[in-house]
Amino acid sequence: MPGKRKYTNATFTKRVDHEAGRHRTLRAMSEPAVCEECGAVYADRRWIAKQTGSEDKKHKHWRPPTTTVCPACQQKRTGEPRGFVYLDGAFFDAHHEEVEQLLRNESERAAEDNPLARIMEWKPGEGHKLTVSTTTEHLAQRLGHALEKAFSGRTKYDFSHENKLARVNWQRD
Ligand SMILES: [Zn+2]
Repeated sequence: MPGKRKYTNATFTKRVDHEAGRHRTLRAMSEPAVCEECGAVYADRRWIAKQTGSEDKKHKHWRPPTTTVCPACQQKRTGEPRGFVYLDGAFFDAHHEEVEQLLRNESERAAEDNPLARIMEWKPGEGHKLTVSTTTEHLAQRLGHALEKAFSGRTKYDFSHENKLARVNWQRD
């Protein structure tokens, strides 16, 4: 995203320590914690998606949450994706709105299963009609399946075990 601030891990750690008022590490994060960027909540040692209207059904151990940044938002800041989906072919030119809507819908459904699965960036060009990066390998694969199911075309899946990176090529001419 243009003009987006870059954060280092050092900045992040310092900030959390400062906001919590005492030293704590991510490993021993206090619960509940809420992500200041996306509103995801950490409780019972797992992340759950932002709850809307959850004020009246608070967790039984509810305390005012600590503010933090969830791993998915941290990943967005550091810009290290785990998956890429490359979209190509003439079909995309004529139907890019439908295609993009499908990707958004599918990533929202994926976030219900795993709130840390997110689309990181949408980049037009760079040798493809569109490149979408994701925080998890699984989400890139899932988006590939969704494209294939909704719009046919050809899909190719590559997975690098070395750097745990999924690359999905989808094309419809
Ligand atoms: Zn977040």
